Amino acid sequence: RCGYVAIVGRPNVGKSTLLNHVLGQKICITSRKPQTTRHNMLGIKTEGANQIIFVDTPGLHAGEEKAINRYMNRAAISSTRDVDVVVFVVERARWTEGDELVAQKLRGLKCPLIIAINKVDQLEDKNALLPQLQALGERFPEAEIVPISALREANLKALEDVIVQRL
Ligand code: GDP
Ligand code: MG
Repeated sequence: RCGYVAIVGRPNVGKSTLLNHVLGQKICITSRKPQTTRHNMLGIKTEGANQIIFVDTPGLHAGEEKAINRYMNRAAISSTRDVDVVVFVVERARWTEGDELVAQKLRGLKCPLIIAINKVDQLEDKNALLPQLQALGERFPEAEIVPISALREANLKALEDVIVQRL
């Protein structure tokens, strides 16, 4: 199977880290500062008969009166229109206004949605994820939800499997 996958989410949730670790190669700059990724970046992963073309996007930025924010949001959102799967990255246990903005922009999405809850390595107790899993499940009944740690490479194979199934 082969297809395009957009990685979207608010700044700093770990989108670029996810792409780098899925590819096993540092193609995107990651940092604690928002706006590190200003343009969409492509990364291609080929494995056996499967090829996934990932599009790492700038985070969605609130404050569209700023031209740079408008530019980055346009890049991020336009990428979700012509891909086969969208991966919406959120952080464990924290739903912010930034996530809400992304969720609103994703309304009417035509392709399958996968929500990756990132940074679960920061959780001491995995049960702490349950309320968030339930809330996201109710809000996005059609989405597959996968907890991951991009940095520690936890559950990334499961995420890739879910992606490939939906291509
Ligand atoms: P982006 O703005 O969504 O592309 O986020 P980045 O990939 O640049 O990551 C933002 C920050 O989160 C960086 O300091 C990363 O090292 C950190 N980060 C990303 N993924 C994880 C993770 O799974 N666990 C932890 N603890 N930190 C992470
Ligand atoms: Mg980034």
